[in-house]
Amino acid sequence: GDVDFKEKLKFSQHLKEKAEAVSDFAKSKSLSQQRQYLPIFSVRDDLLGLVRENQVVVVVGETGSGKTTQLTQYLHEDGYTRTGLVGCTQPRRVAAMSVARRVSDEMETVLGEEVGYAIRFEDVTCRNTKIKYMTDGVLLRETLKDADLDKYRVIIMDEAHERSVNTDVLFGILKKVVARRRDFKLIVTSATLNADKFSKFFGSAPIFHIPGRTFPVNILYSKTPCEDYVEVAVKQAITIHITSGPGDILIFMTGQEEIETACYALAERMEQLISSSTKVVGKLSILPVYSQLPADLQAKIFQKAGEGTRKCIVATNIAETSLTVDGILYVIDTGYGKMKVYNPRMGMDALQVFPCSRAAADQRAGRAGRTGPGTCYRLFTESAYQNEMLPNPVPEIQRTNLANVVLLLKSLEVKNLLDFDFMDPPPKENILSSMYQLWMLGALNNVGGLTNLGWKMVEFPLDPTLAKMLLMGKELGCVDEVLTIVSMLSVPSVFFRPKDREEESDAAREKFFVPESDHLTLLNVYLQWEEQKFKGELCNDRDWCNAHFLHVKSLQKAREVRSQLVDILNTLKIPQTSCHREWDVVRKAVCSAYFKNSARLKGVGEYVNCRNGVPCHLHPSSALYGLGYTPDYIVYHELVLTTKDYMQCVSAVDPHWLVELGPMFFSVREGDTSFLDCRRWHNEEKTDMEEEMEKLKQEQTEVAGR
Ligand code: ADP
Ligand code: MG
Repeated sequence: GDVDFKEKLKFSQHLKEKAEAVSDFAKSKSLSQQRQYLPIFSVRDDLLGLVRENQVVVVVGETGSGKTTQLTQYLHEDGYTRTGLVGCTQPRRVAAMSVARRVSDEMETVLGEEVGYAIRFEDVTCRNTKIKYMTDGVLLRETLKDADLDKYRVIIMDEAHERSVNTDVLFGILKKVVARRRDFKLIVTSATLNADKFSKFFGSAPIFHIPGRTFPVNILYSKTPCEDYVEVAVKQAITIHITSGPGDILIFMTGQEEIETACYALAERMEQLISSSTKVVGKLSILPVYSQLPADLQAKIFQKAGEGTRKCIVATNIAETSLTVDGILYVIDTGYGKMKVYNPRMGMDALQVFPCSRAAADQRAGRAGRTGPGTCYRLFTESAYQNEMLPNPVPEIQRTNLANVVLLLKSLEVKNLLDFDFMDPPPKENILSSMYQLWMLGALNNVGGLTNLGWKMVEFPLDPTLAKMLLMGKELGCVDEVLTIVSMLSVPSVFFRPKDREEESDAAREKFFVPESDHLTLLNVYLQWEEQKFKGELCNDRDWCNAHFLHVKSLQKAREVRSQLVDILNTLKIPQTSCHREWDVVRKAVCSAYFKNSARLKGVGEYVNCRNGVPCHLHPSSALYGLGYTPDYIVYHELVLTTKDYMQCVSAVDPHWLVELGPMFFSVREGDTSFLDCRRWHNEEKTDMEEEMEKLKQEQTEVAGR
C-alpha cells in the first residue's frame, strides 16, 4: 500500500526552491521579528478593540497564526495584567509547558516569573506572574477554592475545539462567572469551525477571524488499505528523505510505543543506508514527541536542525493543533489516533486506537502547508476518508467516565447534574454509571449526595479510586505507605526496559519484587531509592538508577507528587501514619479502592474476573508472574487489552476483604466461609445490595432528573 511515487517525485522538485527560501526565515530573524511576522500581528489592534468592547470574544484562526503565544502578550501589553492575571488554558500539559517557555523567551523573562505555567502537581508561577498558562484541569480545580476566579482579569480558553471534558465543564462554570463579574473577560479560541457553536453558547458573542496564510497541500492517498502502518510510514519517510527536496517531515502515530518503534526503525534504516549506499545521504534528525516525553526532549523539536540535516518528527496527535513546528513540508498521516473511551466491560476509561475524524485528518494535512506548499501522504484510501471516517471527533464528555467531573460538580453544589449548562450534555447513562462508581467507593450516599469521604476525596487532584486508597490508608494506619504507592502510580513507569537489554533490565527489576504485590513492589523501589541516598557520597542518584534500570526522572517526579499530597494531608490534618513494614494492611487499602477489579484463580495460573467470569491474565511485567506466585484472589489497577486481557499492577488480597470492602458485590458463601461467593456471577438472583443498587440508580435518576 505505497503511494504514487512518480507523482510525488515531480511535486517535490517543484517544491524545492520555495522550501529553501522558507527554511532560512526562522534562522535569520530575531524573536520580535518573528512575532511581527505572525498572521495575528496584522490584526492586533482590531482584536484588542473588540475585546475592550465585549465580555466574551471567540477567536478563530489557523494553527500557527499566533493565538496561543500572542494573545496573552497583547492583553498584557494592553494593560489587563495591571488588575489581575491573564490565564490561558490548554487541554494538554505539554502544550502548557512548552508555550509558557516560548512566551517567556519572547518577553525575555525567566520562566516562572512574569510568565509561568501550572499543571497538575507542578506550579511554576510566583507572585509576580502576569501570564499564566495552565491545563484546563488546573483551572477547574481553582474554581473549587474561588468560584468567581477573582485573581483572573482575563481567561483565554485555548484549543476549545479539542473539547476535553475539563474544557466542557469550564464552559458551564465560566458562563456563570461572566454573568457575575462585569470586569471579567473571556476569550475562546478555536482552530476549526466550531466557532458558531461557542458563540451561541455565550449569547451570540462576536467571532473574530484571523486571516490565514497557508500554502496548498498536495494530498496523496494510499491505493489500498495498509496493514502495518508503522512499517509503511517508516518506508515513506525514508523515501522522502532520499528523493525529495528540503523540508522537515512530520509523522502522525497513535502513541509512545509505536513512536518508539518507528524511531528505532528509522534510525536503523538510516544506518543501513549510510553504510551501504555509495551516494551521499543527508543527515536525518529523528525526534519523537508524545505527552510523557521529558520536557527537554520535547523542546528539541523546536530547535533548528544543523546545516543539511532534515528533521523527522514522529508525534501523536499532540502535533495536530497544540504544538506548531515551523518548516514541515511533508506530513505522513497514519489516519489513527488514541482516544480515551469508557469501556463498559472494563468498567473504566481506556485509551484505544481509533481511525481519526475527517476534520482531524484535514488538520494534520494542513501542518504541511504552513511554511510553503507541502505534501501529505495519507496511509489510508480515499474511500476510507470519504465513507468511513466521522466528520468530527466525538467530544470527550460524551465518551468517557465522568467520576471526576461528577465529584467536582457535586462539591460545587450542583445538585442536579442533568441540569448543568453543558454545551453537549453527556449521555445520562454516563452520569449515572459515574455516580454509581462513586457510590461504590463510598463517596456518594444513597440519595446521590457527597459523603464525608467524598468531600475529602475532592481535595485531592487524583482519580477517585486513588483518593479512596489514600484515605483508607488513614483508617488502616498506613498513610505513609499508601502515599508512596499513589505517587508512584501517578507518574510514568519508573522501570526502564531498553530494547536491546531486556533480560538484564528484567533481572534488575526482579530484585525489587515483593512476591504478593506489584503495588508493594513500587513501594519497595521508592524506599530503596530513598535509602541509597543516605549511603554517602559514593552513591550518585543517577548512577544508582541507571544500574538498577530505573528512570530517575520518574522517581523524582513521584517525590514531588508525594510532597504535594503531603501538603494536602496536612491541611486536612490527616497524620502521616505508618505501618512499619507490616505491609498486609497496605494491600487492604489497595483492595478498598480496586475491589471492583478483582479476579480469582480458576485453573493453573489462570484467572477470571470475579464479577463477570471473563478470563484475564497476569501481565508479564508483574512480580506475581515473574515469581510464579498465583494467589487465589487478586485485585488489579487496570486492564490492558492487547492480544489478551492483561491485568496490570496486581496485588494479592484476602477474599474476606472483598466481602468487607465491596459488600455490594461479594458475600461469604454460607456454610463454607473459606470460599467467596460472588452472587452476581454464581446466580442471577439479586442480592439485597443489588436491589439497593437498583433503587439507588432509580433514585439517582430521580435526583438527576428532578
Ligand atoms: P496558534 O496558537 O495560533 O496555533 P502559536 O501561538 O502556538 O499559534 O504559534 C505561533 C508561532 O510560534 C508558530 O510559528 C510556532 O512555530 C511558534 N512557536 C510556538 N511555540 C514555540 C516553541 N516552544 N518554540 C519555538 N517556536 C514556537
Ligand atoms: Mg494554539
